[in-house]
Amino acid sequence: MRKVVKFGGSSLASAEQFRKVGSIIKADESRRYVVPSAPGKRFSADTKVTDLLYQCYRAAKEGGAEFGALLSEIKSRYQEIIDGLELSISLEEDFKVIEENFKNQIGEEYAASRGEFLNSKVMADYLGFEFVDAARIIRFDGEGQFDAEMTGRLTREYLKNMEYVVVPGFYGAMEDGTVKTFSRGGSDITGSIVSGALDVDLYENWTDVSGFLVTDPRIIKNPEVIDTITYRELRELSYMGATVLHEEAIFPVRKAGIPINIRNTNAPDDAGTMIVEDTCKKPAYTITGIAGKKGFCSLFIEKSLMNSEIGFGRKVLQVLEEQGISFEHVPSGIDTMTVFIHQDEFAEKEQQVIAGIHRMVNPDYMELESDLALIAVVGRGMRSNRGTAARIFAALAHANINVKMIDQGSSELNVIIGVKNEDFEGAVKAIYDIFVTTQL
Ligand code: ASP
Repeated sequence: MRKVVKFGGSSLASAEQFRKVGSIIKADESRRYVVPSAPGKRFSADTKVTDLLYQCYRAAKEGGAEFGALLSEIKSRYQEIIDGLELSISLEEDFKVIEENFKNQIGEEYAASRGEFLNSKVMADYLGFEFVDAARIIRFDGEGQFDAEMTGRLTREYLKNMEYVVVPGFYGAMEDGTVKTFSRGGSDITGSIVSGALDVDLYENWTDVSGFLVTDPRIIKNPEVIDTITYRELRELSYMGATVLHEEAIFPVRKAGIPINIRNTNAPDDAGTMIVEDTCKKPAYTITGIAGKKGFCSLFIEKSLMNSEIGFGRKVLQVLEEQGISFEHVPSGIDTMTVFIHQDEFAEKEQQVIAGIHRMVNPDYMELESDLALIAVVGRGMRSNRGTAARIFAALAHANINVKMIDQGSSELNVIIGVKNEDFEGAVKAIYDIFVTTQL
């Protein structure tokens, strides 16, 4: 059994957190490949080292006076960890190189990547593992696009004879050595790539929550943790705003059939959430999760005999495409069609869109409604349970919530519900209560 273990920034913000991580890794000898993030926040008003690095690089570029102070602040963050762990490693030489490179304006992505680079050096020293610079194995092509094939080859080749390794998250390099980073939160992606390349048995992603929650804890206090979720369900929920894992971190492991286990560094005995390709395990409740977002508007279009006008939908969507607006949902009736769009994307272009639709399809009537929220109720269990939709709508009616739109995905994996923004929290609560609270 071999595992990749990735630790997020909050799991590595201080010496105390490092100690927890150390004992987690040492508790299981199959935890062989460690992917650290940069030190995150120690307390809520703190600044992540990655953000300090961006600020520091900007100061270096603009010749700002804060450059020196910011660099010392970053140094002291690492020194605090090193001292707290009573290690003798010195990052003095590394910081000299970093200072030089910052002054020569080597690049913002290089700057940001140093957070993971340095943290991994400290981690490798602390654990007695080998340090492997991600720039050697995570490869980007000449256009700056991630090169999966080359990365796979380099990773396998390079790590072939190494037993216990620390690889920094978040970055890699082009063939000429130029450092490139993934988007923010990208250490999750590195963990997934290394897992896929080495075909390990499990990718453990350690963070500060005990797994994926059934719904947003800002709406429901202490929601239940999802024990097992499929990649498909996770996709639906993340798309609707639920985040624990970087969206792009799913694909490399999913392709290789490797499960991800979300775990909590601060509660290592909790089993966390398993993210799997598929499972026979019955979900604990009919629904797996509820997620949603506010800030949509709807564009209602009516035209008699719309139904027989071939190409009507395409023409409407073409107007949106020409204005560079993406749509979310398009429920339709015999003579009506409604398009759900992000309100802020739509606001600037609304008059052009209305004029464009008139020109293209000459509707009888159009109406805009703003301040809407969309809620996704997701669950593989819906397929085999009758009456799910009825339960959702009964709960919403009982809570006095007016449903503006319903759209059930053809995969029977999700039901999307549109409500007014102000009804959003109430609707999530009503759905959670009917499926989860009353089942407890
Ligand atoms: N340190 C990077 C960030 O703050 C990457 C990561 O933590 O995953 O975005």
